[in-house]
Amino acid sequence: MIIKFEYKYKLFLYLYGRIEKKQRGIRNKKNEFNISNQGSRDEIKLVKQNIYEECKLKTGHDFIDETEDGMYGETFYICKHCNYEK
Ligand SMILES: [Zn+2]
Repeated sequence: MIIKFEYKYKLFLYLYGRIEKKQRGIRNKKNEFNISNQGSRDEIKLVKQNIYEECKLKTGHDFIDETEDGMYGETFYICKHCNYEK
């Protein structure tokens, strides 16, 4: 009886260890993804910044107003060439 219990307990620890290892793997993957995702977000930001600068220098921003739908929709001023928001 006691032996049986010990065996079950060992099996439990073994399986638990495997699950934990798997979870750690998933967590690491998630972190990796977040880091690379942040990287591409920064890149996109940089590209957009370049487009805004180029628009400003070459043609100059040309703002149009855009109002959100709904009763309390806010109005945004967006450049119609580069989508830069004032
Ligand atoms: Zn512009």
